[in-house]
Amino acid sequence: MSEKIIVANKGFVRAEFSFWVGRYMDKFYDAFENKKIIGNKCPKCEKRFVPPRKICGECYEEIIFDKNWVDLPDTGILLNYTITPYKVTDRTSRKVKKSQIIGMIQIEGSDTAIVYKLLNMEPEDISLGMKVKAEWEEKPIGNSADIKGFVKI
Ligand SMILES: [Zn+2]
Repeated sequence: MSEKIIVANKGFVRAEFSFWVGRYMDKFYDAFENKKIIGNKCPKCEKRFVPPRKICGECYEEIIFDKNWVDLPDTGILLNYTITPYKVTDRTSRKVKKSQIIGMIQIEGSDTAIVYKLLNMEPEDISLGMKVKAEWEEKPIGNSADIKGFVKI
């Protein structure tokens, strides 16, 4: 008789970059101050990462900090989304009044996705693969909240 291992996963998924990966993320958020999205590129397999990373997730090559940066547009494609009544940035809060739509967005020219709110949209307006654009804070300060979310274009 074989044993079965069942993993149950209940609860919240925290959909924000909450880990500190040092200067790679610092540089990424510094670019937000100028309303720019940057990523980095693996020198070996050329996979492009947003947010940037130190080790390529594809081939494990180290992506040297001093080079391999790429400027990207603030537009992307919606890969997936979810609708949640909970605040994304604060998992202890109770439900928000109106459900939020959270999207996985692949910035154009990147091979990975970032997670942000979809703004000014109703569920029926959404289709996978649709084009979206970042909605920036008027005065960005260099952190993840500088992008309020993404709107349909
Ligand atoms: Zn690589």
